Amino acid sequence: MHSYSLIAPAKINLYLEIIGDRPDGYHELAMILQSIALADQIDVRSNSNRTIHVHCNHPQVPTDKSNLAYRAAELMAKEFPEAFARYGGVDISINKQIPVAAGLAGGSTNAAAVLIGIDLLWKLGLTQSELEGLGARLGSDVPFCISGGTAIGTGRGEQLSPLPNLNNIYIVLAKYRSLEVSTAWAYKTYRQQFSNSYIKNTNDLVARANAVHSGAIVKAIFARDTGKIAEKLHNDLERVVLPAYPQVLQLREVFANQQGVLGTMMSGSGPTVFALFESEQQAEQVKLYVTEALTDGDLELFVTRTISHGIQVTSSV
Ligand code: ATP
Repeated sequence: MHSYSLIAPAKINLYLEIIGDRPDGYHELAMILQSIALADQIDVRSNSNRTIHVHCNHPQVPTDKSNLAYRAAELMAKEFPEAFARYGGVDISINKQIPVAAGLAGGSTNAAAVLIGIDLLWKLGLTQSELEGLGARLGSDVPFCISGGTAIGTGRGEQLSPLPNLNNIYIVLAKYRSLEVSTAWAYKTYRQQFSNSYIKNTNDLVARANAVHSGAIVKAIFARDTGKIAEKLHNDLERVVLPAYPQVLQLREVFANQQGVLGTMMSGSGPTVFALFESEQQAEQVKLYVTEALTDGDLELFVTRTISHGIQVTSSV
């Protein structure tokens, strides 16, 4: 019997632009994705009964086939039936620290960890690009979560171009525990309201997606100009989520008025709002201030930082 423990970091979006529609029904996106230190721990263990089991310490996370980690294991079993037969099934344990349905890719990073864990358990020796290909079949954010760090994501977000490491920018994340925003709702509502401004011509669509590579925020990342990065944060989905969720708008406004905040933005489809800081001390001070100013037991705040990696294996038995 073998098992692996893996760290599965969350991500934030430093940039999210909706460019147009795709023939597959998804949106054509240009994103900049950034791994953060806030992470779940995933344990994967071979069992001898050819079944997949998921256990999670968080009551909101399903443990059936709707769990993305379960679906990652199921995909591996389907793709590698001989290894599945030889090594048996897998027990997956998720120690959830990443807020759920928060725009932080919690499910996607769990799935990425399971792909890597099973690759090791079954001694498959898959390349990063093979793992990313499998990940893309599970969700648009899964390929990024595999190698993590800082990257441009185009297409559905799964076509990745790595950017230079952007370690140790400090972050405060704020999320109301009981507030969830459905990613599908956010994109559908955006389409209803703004599809008249979508780029329709395929060549123009590709050109627009490519333009992000030479955009101001990418230049700021290459220069590690934290102030400029913070100034150029952007998320089109704020246009639909902020008007519909006044609590999220309020968090944005409270952060924007704090000393030491370099920039603030909603991550992904929300409702998590993040703020960037030069130092951990400034981040801790603002976390304290916001906790006291809003006095809401439903609000959770985390101090974390940018990191340069995705899934990491911490131990094997
Ligand atoms: P993204 O940023 O990729 O859109 P998210 O952070 O907004 O993702 P998740 O935390 O992945 O959202 O949760 C979205 C939904 O997926 C939840 O409602 C949850 O029930 C379900 N889910 C399935 N598997 C998982 C998992 N392993 N961890 C968390 N949620 C999961």
